[in-house]
Amino acid sequence: MLRPIVRYGADVLHRPAAPVTDITPETQLLIDDMIQTMYAAPGIGLAATQIGIPLRIFVCDISVGRNPADLITFVNPEFVERDGMQLEEEGCLSVPGFNATVARPSRAVLKGLNRHGEEQVVEAAGLLARCFQHEVDHLDGTVFVDRLRGLQKDLIVRRIKKLSRAGKW
Ligand SMILES: [Zn+2]
Repeated sequence: MLRPIVRYGADVLHRPAAPVTDITPETQLLIDDMIQTMYAAPGIGLAATQIGIPLRIFVCDISVGRNPADLITFVNPEFVERDGMQLEEEGCLSVPGFNATVARPSRAVLKGLNRHGEEQVVEAAGLLARCFQHEVDHLDGTVFVDRLRGLQKDLIVRRIKKLSRAGKW
């Protein structure tokens, strides 16, 4: 089932999500909905908070469905290593129409559970490392706009507020 994606400014996007204590059939349905919603958008990643569910789950697929092996689900993810630096343009399904260059580590090792509750460790570089960090940020209540500074951030926040007042957000 497709779920509506909430936008920057929605409370659920701006507070930390809770760990998943038990992976139930309901969790499986939630994950299926997240995958379907991510592909329909289309996007390369989606955190549960983006569909209004404050749980530490995200899905990602940097091939956007072209390569089934690229679909990754993480439950309760935690970084075990991060290093290097990459500067790339980033966007977010919860901030449609806005992109900005965000500095991120270029390599990341993420540990957590897969959708079956088994422990998994995934080493990522480049776009996948960026995606992991963007999604874990969501689970911590941080949107990429929050990582911007100064004028760049002010400009985006001001334009969102304006759209919001006009009922277009
Ligand atoms: Zn996002």
